[in-house]
Amino acid sequence: MFEKILIANRGEIALRVQRACRELGVKTVVVHSEADRDAKYVKLADESVCIGPAPSAQSYLNVPAIISAAEVTDSQAIHPGYGFLSENADFAERVESSGFVFIGPKAETIRYMGDKISAKEAMRAADVPCVPGSDGALNDDSAEIGRIAKSIGYPIIIKASGGGGGRGMRVVHTEAALLNAVAMTRTEAQSAFGNPTVYMEKYLENPRHVEIQILADQHGNAVHLGERDCSMQRRHQKIIEEAPAPLIPARHITRIGERCAEACRKIGYRGAGTFEFLYERGEFYFIEMNTRVQVEHPVTEAITGIDIVQAQIRVAAGEKLGIRQRDVSFRGHAIECRINAEDPRTFTPFPGKISVYHPPGGPGIRVDSHIYQGYVVPPYYDSMVAKVIAYGDTREQAIRRMRIALSEMGVEGIKTNIPLHQELMLDALFIKGGASIHYLEQKLAAQGEVKK
Ligand code: ADP
Repeated sequence: MFEKILIANRGEIALRVQRACRELGVKTVVVHSEADRDAKYVKLADESVCIGPAPSAQSYLNVPAIISAAEVTDSQAIHPGYGFLSENADFAERVESSGFVFIGPKAETIRYMGDKISAKEAMRAADVPCVPGSDGALNDDSAEIGRIAKSIGYPIIIKASGGGGGRGMRVVHTEAALLNAVAMTRTEAQSAFGNPTVYMEKYLENPRHVEIQILADQHGNAVHLGERDCSMQRRHQKIIEEAPAPLIPARHITRIGERCAEACRKIGYRGAGTFEFLYERGEFYFIEMNTRVQVEHPVTEAITGIDIVQAQIRVAAGEKLGIRQRDVSFRGHAIECRINAEDPRTFTPFPGKISVYHPPGGPGIRVDSHIYQGYVVPPYYDSMVAKVIAYGDTREQAIRRMRIALSEMGVEGIKTNIPLHQELMLDALFIKGGASIHYLEQKLAAQGEVKK
């Protein structure tokens, strides 16, 4: 096991990784920006290093500063958390070439999984079902583009191979709009991602977002930890996640989960990872792989009893996975609400000083958060300030516990989206389960109409 790990992230995930390290008896170094200097989790770490001013480009994305922080503190490994540099293949490469262990997959794996076309190719080769589409990049031949679209059938979606964060996509409903959409997506992709390559997929009109968590070691072992349903989204940002996914037969999950684990063995994947799928009419369609720990990992931890962050660290240290597929069992139901510092109606970020903080508790409640009374939410970063996870024997019990937790939770001085979560926990379609990825936006739009 490592003696010391540097955590190249901030906020709740920096604290989460720190907790995993402490349980493993590993010392921690937290790097932070000037804006995060006084945060309690920074003080809780064994060591901390300021790596630059508040803007993330100069701190949390500052590769040389992070590498030298690892050098001066004699760290052995770097945990990137999620966001920031976690899926940056060049960073992973720099970490390893500087003599540290990157807690994640190999740089080359991150690189080809980060490119949607090569990721899909790898998945097709590993028998993971993908959205029907162009086999690879679209070329400049307009007649051929038209033929591909016709054979897939409208509506289709044009996507940037280098895209991310829900950007670089365009839905096309008619042949008349096709070529213009391809050209525009190319231009956007070039300016946003420095790569004009685009491809085409069938546009699924009412899918759910269902993803599979996997863990793999460096010795050829891989297991899946079941699925999460993350369909409650706004602008492609997940706000509620749960496990298991309601109303999907367990045998379907087993089948797709085993395909994902097998794909990991085939590509020599190491660490934790997530295969994201759209799920429609009983079928799974791969859209992308996340090669890092995800925000929503606690719901899987709740129903499997497996500490995913500790597993990442153990695997990076060269240990074999301590579990086989038959050791993985699922019990109960877990739901996570992402609490954001934002106006619950307009969704405008609402940073500032937290004057009162009362976290919820009680049976089945877990709160992952770095905030406290007196903490100032800085305006520079993601607005998520806490994750509330409710576990129950059944989905109904998890929902009831979540309602109680949200009613107990007190955050004053800033605005949060707790009222929206409270509303969703009473929403008939949410309670029924199985809403599509468009449900939340449609609901919010309908409320906007009523107000007008
Ligand atoms: P990103 O890396 O930008 O998050 P994804 O490929 O994961 O891009 O897609 C983001 C979201 O876009 C999906 O969660 C889904 O809502 C929508 N989307 C992507 N591809 C399709 C598709 N073929 N059909 C319908 N919706 C899609």
